[in-house]
Formats: sequence, structure tokens, C-alpha cells
Amino acid sequence: PYEVLVVGGGPAGASAAIYAARKGIRTGVVAERFGGQVMDTMSIENFISVKETQGPKLAAALEEHVKQYNVDIMSEQRADGLVSAEKTEDGYIHVELESGATLKSRSVILSTGARWREMNVPGEQEYRNKGVAYCPHCDGPLFKGKKVAVIGGGNSGIEAAIDLAGIVEQVTVLEFADTLRADQVLVDKANSMNNISIIKSAQTTEVIGDGTRVNALNYIDRVTGEAKQIELAGIFVQIGLIPNSDFLKTSGVTLSSRGEIEVNAKGETSVAGVFAAGDVTTVPYKQIIIAMGEGSKASLSAFDHLIRTPAP
Ligand code: FAD
Repeated sequence: PYEVLVVGGGPAGASAAIYAARKGIRTGVVAERFGGQVMDTMSIENFISVKETQGPKLAAALEEHVKQYNVDIMSEQRADGLVSAEKTEDGYIHVELESGATLKSRSVILSTGARWREMNVPGEQEYRNKGVAYCPHCDGPLFKGKKVAVIGGGNSGIEAAIDLAGIVEQVTVLEFADTLRADQVLVDKANSMNNISIIKSAQTTEVIGDGTRVNALNYIDRVTGEAKQIELAGIFVQIGLIPNSDFLKTSGVTLSSRGEIEVNAKGETSVAGVFAAGDVTTVPYKQIIIAMGEGSKASLSAFDHLIRTPAP
């Protein structure tokens, strides 16, 4: 059995694994895809102390750093269940893998991240990172002085529009429904800014580009049925971030209404010995530097738990 088993190999998981291994305790990482969302990221300019890097480069550096230590890395393995120590005969926490194998550990750190909900329209995949973006904090400055759209009129969409309006020339928000779901205070703020326009009842249909970059967006006005096009350089998709927590449904780990793992300031979940970190948790602001900090924190909390709890 492990003393610390990390589920997920993104920034949070890598950080948790390094902090655990540095305590000289038996550490494992099980991950579907080492590197996580960072693998899908092109330019990263807000990982403090590194002026500019690319996702795959940072992911390779994460893996290299983890491999400096005695950590069992189990890649391309998907967890599909967790059983708390209270419910197992041997007193270890069990992590069940899709392969049928079971991993046992005295403590577990869940860092399975999240994924952006996609529009699922033609051109979205082709122009991902070439004008189609999901993170305004990350990619907003790349569109300085240009025209962009934000897809989604919920809180994250309107927040993104307000944020982007300070950087770009013009922001058009497209909302599918005939009302905005965002808080009124945000809507009022957006309406007060002269470079934000909001279009409701708009169904996005296609991302248009010149082969290398996005240059327009097609949508249908759901009231009139008319097809329309907006010329722009960027599209920020803000229709939801889905936490990868499905496999915990029967585990006893408390999830929020959005499916995020509820954690306290120490990274503890509702199950003894089970900690969580990064985008899969209720911790606000989903960023690499935050996920790494949370991963190290959860790991130190796991160590604290281990030294206070007798081995089974
Ligand atoms: P993730 O990176 O999502 O990693 C999750 C890990 O868990 C992966 O290894 C995954 O394979 C694994 N996993 C998931 N489910 C299972 C399972 N059931 N069993 C086993 N393993 C599982 N942030 C910034 O700070 N700056 C940026 O410039 C930036 N740009 C971004 C651009 C894009 C296109 C995207 C998508 C995100 C960007 N982000 C950026 C956000 C950043 O990538 C995330 O906040 C960060 O990766 C979260 O780290 P994490 O470790 O919590 O989760």
C-alpha cells in the first residue's frame, strides 16, 4: 500500500506528489494523462517567475520534476471509484481503477481537475488556441486592441466580458437563452461599459477562420431565425467548467451542487484521510499557480494526518 496516493497528474497532482515524496513516504500518482489541461495550453504567461512557456513544455517539466523522486507514476490509468478506509476490511482507502485493479493507500489526494464545456460547433477544435480560448485571465492579453466575443451570459461569461473590456477593443456577449443568468450587479456593470454589447437568444453555429486564425463567428438569431456573422479575432467560451468528479459519486466525498469536491482551508474533504486540490475542488479561480499551491497544501495536510494516525 501507499502512504500517499495522488489521483491526477496535472499541476495540483504533480505538486502534491513532490511534497509527499520529499517526506520520504511511499507515494504513487495515478493519472489518465500526465500534465492535465496544461497539455492543451499553448502560451502560458502567468506562471510567476517564468515569463513565457508553452503547455507541453511545462507538462514535461512537471513530469521530470516528479521523476526526480521515488514516486510510482501510473499513467493512462483512470480511477472509477473510491472506498473510504472505514468501509474496507484492511483499513486502507481503496482507489478502484477502470482496468479492474485496486490501489490501496493510507491517504489519498484527489486532483483530477476539470474540463471546459465546449460549444460543439464546426471550427471550434480547429481554431482552439488560434482564437478560440477558454480562460480570460490566461489569454485575454493576447487579444489587446482586438474584437472578441464571449459565449455564455452566466456569471463567468459576464465577468469575462468585464475583464476583457479593459484590454480589448470590443466585446460581444452571446447568450443562448432570452435572459442572462448572471447576477444583476455584474449585468449592470457590463451595461455601463461602452465597449460591451450583449446579444440574447443567439445560437452560435460556427467558428470561421482563415486557416491559421479565427476571423469571424456565425450565429442564428433564435427569435427571427436570421443567420448572422460577427467579425472578430477571439472567442472566449464561458459555458461552464465541469469538474472530473463523477467517479466519486458513491464514495462519501461531499461534492458541491456543481460537482466540485468540497474542501476546507487545509484541503481536507468530508472523508478522513482523503484530501483534494486544484480545479476539481471548490477553491475559487482555476489557475496553474493556484492548483500547484493547493496540491502542496493538500500534501502537507496528508502528511500531518499520517503522523497522527496509526497505520492499519
Ligand atoms: P488538470 O490540469 O485538469 O489535471 C487533472 C489530472 O487528472 C490529469 O492528469 C487528468 O488526466 C487526471 N484525471 C482526470 N480524471 C481522472 C480519473 N478519473 N482517473 C485518473 N486521472 C484522472 N492556467 C494558468 O494559470 N495559465 C494559463 O495560461 C492557462 N491557460 C489555459 C488554457 C487552456 C486551453 C486550458 C484548458 C486551461 C488553462 N489554464 C491556465 C488552467 C490550468 O490549466 C488549470 O487551472 C490547471 O491545469 C489545473 O490543474 P489541476 O492539476 O487541478 O487539473
